Amino acid sequence: MTKNEKISTSRLGLSAGRVDYVFFGSDIFRGSAYGKGHPLNIARVWPVIDLCRILNWLPDEYYQAVEPASPEQLNLFHDMSYIRALQMAERDQALQDADMQRYRIGLDNNPIFADVYRRPATAAAASLMAADALFESRVKTAFNPSGGTHHGMPDKANGFCFVNDPALAILRLLLKGAQKVAYVDIDAHHPDGVQAHLSGDERVQLWSIHEKNRWPRTGQLGDSGEGFARNFTLERGAGNDELLRCMDQYILPEVARFAPEYIVLQAGCDGLQDDPQSGLVFSNNGYWQAAEKVLGLNKPTLVLGGGGYNPISTARAWAGLWGLISGNDPYQCDLPETASRLLAGLEWSHRWARNKPRRWFERLYDDASS
Ligand SMILES: [Zn+2]
Repeated sequence: MTKNEKISTSRLGLSAGRVDYVFFGSDIFRGSAYGKGHPLNIARVWPVIDLCRILNWLPDEYYQAVEPASPEQLNLFHDMSYIRALQMAERDQALQDADMQRYRIGLDNNPIFADVYRRPATAAAASLMAADALFESRVKTAFNPSGGTHHGMPDKANGFCFVNDPALAILRLLLKGAQKVAYVDIDAHHPDGVQAHLSGDERVQLWSIHEKNRWPRTGQLGDSGEGFARNFTLERGAGNDELLRCMDQYILPEVARFAPEYIVLQAGCDGLQDDPQSGLVFSNNGYWQAAEKVLGLNKPTLVLGGGGYNPISTARAWAGLWGLISGNDPYQCDLPETASRLLAGLEWSHRWARNKPRRWFERLYDDASS
């Protein structure tokens, strides 16, 4: 048993009993980021934690701090040579040219930063730990907003993702003996890494709804991957109605028919109208309703983050998601002044930050009438 496996069984504060929900996080996400000019050079996880604490939605007993996963744990999905390259990049803050080319570390917007191994390895540890907790019935719904890095490949970085934590969580569940795992992805981008490597396993069924013709341009309508993937595409400009219609007409009935033992929900929020990385225009209300429908299937569920490139809308969306998980109502949540100050203090150099609507600081929801 590795050190981290020990942590996963003994240090989870919930091991003695069963709780309905748990939030996985780490102080590592308060530290370094991807570097100047990168879309992910924004605070994404700690503002969610702090916002939930301000709202009294996150008592200590529902929060689980996580340590980075070991290379052996990551090896469940990733090649050991790739993991070693990632560790080397972190140690030296550089990589030899041939390794950069081979592993795409330090290239393609996958920059080498201070904790380029430990940070994604921590997000992965949270998903692995969550998979264990779900399998052992210690928790009903697990939330890991640092996860959802669905583009990662076994042997290379891809689309800002160094480690593929959704794939790791699914593989961990299968390794433990799960026979039916559903993966539902509502991020604006197609989960190419997850589909390429898990859609050929009949124990896993994948559903994704994403923007048509957006990077990585895989996952066209009708693409079933290696057999067990379902892809739905939305036109640029599509909003809540299109998202919820697709959920109601296709995804939910199909997931229900599959009757999974476990669900992994990748809830990237880059399809929000306030997010600059897609042409989709969901509001928080629609995004939460989509997630709520999946949670309503009432299966042990791992809820992950994913894309989210406006620090303010991401914090609001994911705090609200935790609200849904933890039995609090985000649809009517007006923000106290401490929360407004927290959001107003988040740095964002994007041109969209020049005109910040007041609702970003006044409330969690977007649509007042919902
Ligand atoms: Zn995305």
